[in-house]
Amino acid sequence: MEGQMVKGLSIEDIPGLTLLYDEPASRHTTLQVGGPMDLLVIPKSKQALVKLVRRLREVGVKPLVIGAGTNLLVRDGGIRGVVVKVGEELGGVTWGSEGVTVGAGEPLIDLSRQAVERGMSGLEYACGIPGTIGGALYMNAGAYGWSVADVVSEVELLSYSGRVQRVDPRLLKFGYRSSVLGDKGIALSCRMSLLAGDSKLLKRLVDEVLAVRREKMPLDYPSAGSFFKNPSKELPAGRLLEEAGCKGMRVGKAEISEKHANFIVNTGGASSADILNLMELAQEKVRRLFGMKLEPEVCIVGEEEVKDGK
Ligand SMILES: Cc1cc2nc3c(=O)[nH]c(=O)nc-3n(C[C@H](O)[C@H](O)[C@H](O)COP(=O)(O)OP(=O)(O)OC[C@H]3O[C@@H](n4cnc5c(N)ncnc54)[C@H](O)[C@@H]3O)c2cc1C
Repeated sequence: MEGQMVKGLSIEDIPGLTLLYDEPASRHTTLQVGGPMDLLVIPKSKQALVKLVRRLREVGVKPLVIGAGTNLLVRDGGIRGVVVKVGEELGGVTWGSEGVTVGAGEPLIDLSRQAVERGMSGLEYACGIPGTIGGALYMNAGAYGWSVADVVSEVELLSYSGRVQRVDPRLLKFGYRSSVLGDKGIALSCRMSLLAGDSKLLKRLVDEVLAVRREKMPLDYPSAGSFFKNPSKELPAGRLLEEAGCKGMRVGKAEISEKHANFIVNTGGASSADILNLMELAQEKVRRLFGMKLEPEVCIVGEEEVKDGK
């Protein structure tokens, strides 16, 4: 029965895959919301992932890829089809004199910490950005004017047809919290060019960055980080939301943080619908006051919940 969820798909024979049926997305996202995923596959190795993608191709299935789910809002109806999680099993770090090669499932924060300890400069502003390297590439994650695109020198990519190739990062067209990685395939690993630095100075900078983040961000509550993109450097979304009176606004158990207006937090038991309704209310308030529409930075995926009798 379970194997028939996608017509003609059989992957149980591929070694090195963990298969979870009807797995709640809320367990795999930092917002802790989201309905069941029909099939979540967690590959334990690159080889297993490549085999999986080739098998999916044979039946015409394009999987949805997730990393640590730190920038994901899955709707309450969950996700139909196949979700592939590129997690820590696909991590791994190899240091060289001019940089590092890192698996897509490696947590960015761990990599940043290692770089600083080794006196390698280039990843210190990543010290507080959760999620995987794959997610960071997709989002072109960044902070304080720095972004992942500044250090990536090569990306190992698995196309949806199952081909593995090393590509120039320019192919991914990095922009502000964006790239075209999703059109190209799944990130397997990347190389980053780093510079020699002074470990003590780098550590001091990291401590300062983390202190500022702790002071400004509501890190005690489940969230997906900044919810909206900044319309421009001069117009941060947080300021627009604050001036529009959004701080403290609630729908159900979702709340616009009093601490930072660009964070929607789950105060305990929120649904995706709560968060999406709150998002729309906030967008409307900002549109009325400033005449501009805030675009979500968070990736919104999945199906709306179908209620009985509707
Ligand atoms: C408390 C908090 C603070 C945050 N602060 C910041 C910040 O300062 N700066 C910032 O930029 N972000 C921040 N974020 C958001 C988030 O951490 C980043 O966007 C992160 O890079 C997402 O990585 P992930 O592995 O969690 O990706 P996910 O959320 O799992 O996925 C995000 C997108 O990446 C794609 N993806 C994931 N892995 C791969 C892969 N291997 N190949 C291809 N596509 C893939 C997914 O399909 C999805 O579209 C914060 C989040 C939280 C919760």
